[in-house]
Amino acid sequence: MPLYKEISPICYDEELRAVFKLSKNRVSIPSIIMGEKLNIETSINNGNERVNNYKIIVSSPLRIKPKCEVFTKCGGCALQHLVYQQQLLLKDEVIKKLFSNMINANTKVYPIMGMNNPYHYRNKSQVVFKYKNGKNISGFYEEGTHEVINFDNCYLQNELSNKIFKTIKELIIKMHISIYDEDKKTGIIRHILIKTAKNSEALVVIITGSSFFPGKNNFVKALTSRHPEIKSIIHNINGRSSSAVLGNEEEVIYGKGYIIDDLLGYKFKITSKSFYQINHLQTEVMYQKVIDFAKISSQDVVLDAYCGVGTIGILASKYAKKVIGVELVNDAVDNARYNAQLNKIKNISFFCQDASNFIINMARRKEKIDVVIMDPPRSGSTNEFLQSVLLLHPSRIVYVSCNPYTLVNDLKVLLNDYQIEIVQPVDMFPETYHIETITLLGLKEPKK
Ligand code: SAH
Repeated sequence: MPLYKEISPICYDEELRAVFKLSKNRVSIPSIIMGEKLNIETSINNGNERVNNYKIIVSSPLRIKPKCEVFTKCGGCALQHLVYQQQLLLKDEVIKKLFSNMINANTKVYPIMGMNNPYHYRNKSQVVFKYKNGKNISGFYEEGTHEVINFDNCYLQNELSNKIFKTIKELIIKMHISIYDEDKKTGIIRHILIKTAKNSEALVVIITGSSFFPGKNNFVKALTSRHPEIKSIIHNINGRSSSAVLGNEEEVIYGKGYIIDDLLGYKFKITSKSFYQINHLQTEVMYQKVIDFAKISSQDVVLDAYCGVGTIGILASKYAKKVIGVELVNDAVDNARYNAQLNKIKNISFFCQDASNFIINMARRKEKIDVVIMDPPRSGSTNEFLQSVLLLHPSRIVYVSCNPYTLVNDLKVLLNDYQIEIVQPVDMFPETYHIETITLLGLKEPKK
């Protein structure tokens, strides 16, 4: 028996979906704004109340029409229905609440740094191609599924990537190149990955199901003649049955296999596999803040933990006596070493290791570290890592995080000896629920 009721949300969940209190349980509904009122139809299933249908009957003045046609299906942009200024306020609220009982009277919690134009900021985008029911479709995976949603224009991807995707789709049809069929393991094109640099150079990675790619040379010729911005093309082979985009095997089929980006006047190599921040403008804003907060002086030894391709460490090296970078992924460490050479930096060294193991050994050897900069993945750091930081006893810790929930958990450990001096959120991912936060910690009792 369906039940009908009028209801308003009570709060937002971690992914900024509105939370509703039903008779037996709570449910989250995406793209609803606090203060809105809904007419919902629910039913009880195994003791749980589920929402079958809903209609907004009182809509928020902060609601705007999402630009994207597939907004409700894709799930990539949780907040396109909300005016941008309000997205920023919402993210500020999340941070204030999470930090409320961790800060003291001297802590500065600054407002989130937003973008002037919160669209087309992504410098990395990937599209999946699928052959289904006699039709070729290309787009993103639907949220939480393996289904593909067709799209022609993504409002987060930069304009150049959108144009290159459009050309690739046209060429696939014109040149009769087949699409990979996951079930039969036949056909050619599986995914396309595009990365772009500040100077509008593009790296295109064509992912196929096997090494068989007839017409490859003609395809490369046609694509590069339409887009001279493409400086390199890589053919990557991924025959595995999973949603992972890249396979292990790859071959450079045009150009050098990488492009060079510029961040705050330093050069960085972008390759197919290693991590690189996806929002160029905001990365510069964020990195500048990290450097400012770290207040590195010429006698300081700096640890850049979870360093990726060495970006933060390389920026820090100018001010430091020595920088040590540690990163788990081999490819990224290779790139980090290359980047140090490219920028003629001599006082930096990189280690390919698990950050926790590395720092435990540093603590055992009682090494002198003055500043720890840490930027772990979404899952956060580990207790071993944090305990070792306490033993190393640096004067300052700058924790860069893309997940404020794991961030505050980790900070609890550090608050034994440290206090939070600054919390600075940066909107690296407008239109989505993600929040990047820089936290500066200083010793409670400064070194004598
Ligand atoms: N600071 C870099 C990278 C941040 S992303 C930048 O701004 O670009 C987090 C990085 O942590 C990734 O490069 C990932 O490969 C690395 N990583 C993940 N788990 C790790 C671990 N256990 N030890 C060391 N590095 C790890």
